Amino acid sequence: MKAIVLFGSPGSGKGTQAKLLRSCLGVPHISTGDMLRDRLLHGNSLGTAVQATMQAGSLVADEVVNRLVRDRLSQPDAAAGFILDGYPRTRAQAETLRKWLEGRGICELVIHLAVDYNVIIARLAGRRQCPRCGTLYNVVSQPPKRDELCDLDGERLVVRDDDRESVIRERLEAYEQQTWPVLEFYRSIGAPVVKVEDTGEGPDAVARRICQALDDSSKNGC
Ligand code: AMP
Repeated sequence: MKAIVLFGSPGSGKGTQAKLLRSCLGVPHISTGDMLRDRLLHGNSLGTAVQATMQAGSLVADEVVNRLVRDRLSQPDAAAGFILDGYPRTRAQAETLRKWLEGRGICELVIHLAVDYNVIIARLAGRRQCPRCGTLYNVVSQPPKRDELCDLDGERLVVRDDDRESVIRERLEAYEQQTWPVLEFYRSIGAPVVKVEDTGEGPDAVARRICQALDDSSKNGC
């Protein structure tokens, strides 16, 4: 039973890697960004409350996100392990998660996806999403078969509100200021942190290196 924490800046490929890992490990992919967007889309009170914060590229309050994650991790499908994408994003979230996992004897493996800053900017600016099914594309590296239309349902693709240029800067700033200390927290408590560099060889090659790191950590008893 393991908690895999995918750590990295916006645009580092956490979502893509989580989906690849989910299909090979068979454990759920838990993305706080997706959970919040889902609530926003369905117009519930939580979604409405966090809308402005998300559109500005800032972080939603720790208590709100911690509660969402705690409820999600208590679902039966997470009993054999899970992949966290976009959480924890502050030191306070990391401490909350640690307490929750410790109480259940679950160890964390942190995978730090390290990607060049210029690549990140290009990825985020080229990103498109299907508003109906959520599939992500990139106009340069992963274009849809037909211009601006989703391959799966033909819906016209959109630029996510928080992928606009000014908001991208805000999100990267939030990452530097609030999320980077999470890595220091993990190092300070001696949790395993594996750095996986994405040097442009494509998502499958990165996924293979993550799987190797997971194998190694299992041999070391986690
Ligand atoms: P993401 O799709 O992971 O980039 O998340 C999109 C947005 O959701 C972020 O810019 C934040 O506004 C919010 N968000 C997602 N995860 C968290 C988190 N762990 N803590 C606070 N805000 C979050």
